[in-house]
Amino acid sequence: MIERTLVLVKPDGVYRALIGKSIAAFEDAGLKVIGIKMVKPDRSIVDKHYVADEEYLKSIGAKTINSYKKRGIEVKDTELQIGQRIRGYLFDYLTNKPVVAMVVEGNEAVANVKKITGATSPTDADRSSIRGMYSSDSYDLADAKKRAIKNMLHVSGDKADAAREVPLWFKESELVEYKRSDESMLYD
Ligand code: GDP
Ligand code: MG
Repeated sequence: MIERTLVLVKPDGVYRALIGKSIAAFEDAGLKVIGIKMVKPDRSIVDKHYVADEEYLKSIGAKTINSYKKRGIEVKDTELQIGQRIRGYLFDYLTNKPVVAMVVEGNEAVANVKKITGATSPTDADRSSIRGMYSSDSYDLADAKKRAIKNMLHVSGDKADAAREVPLWFKESELVEYKRSDESMLYD
């Protein structure tokens, strides 16, 4: 069913002039941009966006540990310690840098946007996803450089995240309802 989800083209996507290709990938799949702006996020919005919630931080840490385990590398830090460290990197990555924020609407928008975006680490991302096509960063390199993985995009992780993130970045008055010319072909 029709949903809305949040997309951020992160600073590496903007600096590498990949805003257009990112938008095109979503539009080509039949999804519609209903809000868009370029911002330099301050610390407070990054703080609210990447919540300091223990469960969320542990989930980031768990993904990291899993990826290292698969490659036979032992990790000493706990999930929470890793999550907290990465949250620090995310402030450096996004605060006061150019970011394009978008709300994307369409059928199963949350799942479709996630699929088109690809896995967190571009090295693991499907070749046909945006992260897989246009980036090549990895857990190892990002961790060695003590920075966030440069994966070009943030997209809402699930419907609950989308419901929280869309109003964090956009007022309802900044969202525009219109019909794409191919909507009846897409939906009827
Ligand atoms: P996403 O939903 O795929 O963006 O991934 P998460 O919500 O788990 O993590 C948020 C962001 O933190 C990612 O997009 C990366 O930029 C960064 N990140 C996640 N895991 C790691 C990691 O293990 N190491 C580093 N350096 N950055 C990470
Ligand atoms: Mg996420």
